[in-house]
Amino acid sequence: MAAPYRLISRLALVTGGGSGIGRAVCQRLAIEGASVVVADVSEESANETLRSLATGAGGAGGQRHVALRVDVSLKESVEGLVTGIQCEYFRPPCVCVSAAGITADDFLLRMEERHFDRVTQVNLKGTFLVIQAISRSLVASGAPKGSIITVGSIVGKVGNVGQGNYTASKAGVEGLTRTTAKELSKFGIRCNCVLPGFISTPMTDKVPHKVIDKITSMVPQGRMGEPAEVADVCAFLASDDSRYITGASIEVTGGLFIG
Ligand code: NAD
Repeated sequence: MAAPYRLISRLALVTGGGSGIGRAVCQRLAIEGASVVVADVSEESANETLRSLATGAGGAGGQRHVALRVDVSLKESVEGLVTGIQCEYFRPPCVCVSAAGITADDFLLRMEERHFDRVTQVNLKGTFLVIQAISRSLVASGAPKGSIITVGSIVGKVGNVGQGNYTASKAGVEGLTRTTAKELSKFGIRCNCVLPGFISTPMTDKVPHKVIDKITSMVPQGRMGEPAEVADVCAFLASDDSRYITGASIEVTGGLFIG
């Protein structure tokens, strides 16, 4: 699909930008003209994404991307990220996609407390820390508008065997998204959630083939999704094309679990 250049002169932050969906989002936002901050706990993979980003669509101000390390589960690390962005660009990002996430699957009867804690710390608390820090800097700067995009999951709505920690964290992300939308609309900040189904990334590469085959057979469109297909929706939510949408969850699932 041809990129409509909807994000020229915008600054965008993408957490989890070093891999999978986050990397595809960085690439799509850059193609649309944004300057992108690729943030990830893995500096190496963030830099790899950085090297793949387009630079020719920035308009008069040009386009400058950076890669920064962050652990979204730690408040000091997230605050350091926001300070780092301020030092690089002298403004906060008006687009923020919170895509960092992990899994640590096990059946409920066996799940260790530390695996519940870690998954909720990264997926849910990490999303909270990023949303809070970015919103604070947007409000303080007097920026007229912002678009925050969170990444939930369809399994946060329907549950999934072996993912009690993950599904709880993703259901939490959706609730947080709606509250953020209600509280921050008065500052011109929108907040929406994408709910991917099963997307081919390093995260799902870990799932056994026979499980993938079973899931794929349940998808009306008959296949797993591509990271770029989630990124396309994030670009829409980042842009003014979605200006009257806030607090929404958009399923990107090929029809999995509809109805
Ligand atoms: P991925 O493993 O390819 O990418 C996740 C990225 O997050 C990695 O680069 C990783 O280094 C980074 N990360 C992990 N912990 C971090 C931390 N503490 N701080 C900063 N960065 C951290 O996975 P993906 O499939 O691209 O997943 C991206 C998001 O989409 C996640 O939130 C995931 O839960 C969600 N999601 C994925 C699918 C899917 O099918 N792949 C489905 C629904 C939702």
